[in-house]
Amino acid sequence: LFVDQPLGQGQLVPVERDQAHYLFGVMRLGLGAQILLFDGVSGEWIAEVIEAGKRRGVLKCVEQTKPLQMPPDLWLMFAPIKKARTDFIVEKAAEMGAAKICPVQTDFTNSERIRQDRLQAHAVEAAEQCGGTYVPPVTELQKLGKVLETWPADRHLMFCDEALVDGGGSLPDITGPWAILIGPEGGFSDAERTRLRSLEMAHPVSLGPRILRADTAAVAAMTLWQEKLGD
Ligand code: SAM
Repeated sequence: LFVDQPLGQGQLVPVERDQAHYLFGVMRLGLGAQILLFDGVSGEWIAEVIEAGKRRGVLKCVEQTKPLQMPPDLWLMFAPIKKARTDFIVEKAAEMGAAKICPVQTDFTNSERIRQDRLQAHAVEAAEQCGGTYVPPVTELQKLGKVLETWPADRHLMFCDEALVDGGGSLPDITGPWAILIGPEGGFSDAERTRLRSLEMAHPVSLGPRILRADTAAVAAMTLWQEKLGD
């Protein structure tokens, strides 16, 4: 279970509302029961139930079980699409070990706004379900042009370009910080493609001979990157 407060030996963790209902009502955890907690900063802890009410309870950290396990330095940048598909991308990116999830607005992006808190909650749920100790931050929606203006000099960009379906564009074998970029349903504009191709750190990459939906492309790109460059 993820808790939004720093954990440490003997630390008391108040549990309220939905979490209390889930732990003490649905899971029926009573006094002395143990549960695994993580805070995304210090790692994973065994905590014991020391107070259990219907709407409120208290847990106490008794032992650390894992240190924080940071994923490789990979950002997933994508243009938000329909709600359920955007949720899917965030969930899969968190499960597959993205260090940061960055929605970007491109020329043909369908949605102009995102619910960052909702997407962050999906990242938390995904980290909980895969036993991770780290939750990737989901950033605010930023314009792709602005992001490229201040692109870090040491970060490679896997620019997933559906225009390469007829061949070419393999992922280079270069280690270091990376980001993946997935376009929206309408793909990238010519201006974006020109700008991206002129960026020294950008590597146009093909995900195969078929045009994939953006959510499929995000998973395929992360799998390809993990296979070749992940640790
Ligand atoms: N412009 C396309 C069209 O409508 O024909 C569709 C874009 S595709 C649905 C969404 C994004 O997924 C693309 O911008 C690209 O980043 C990625 N993508 C999909 N298939 C790909 C492929 N075969 N190779 C590389 N990237 C791909």
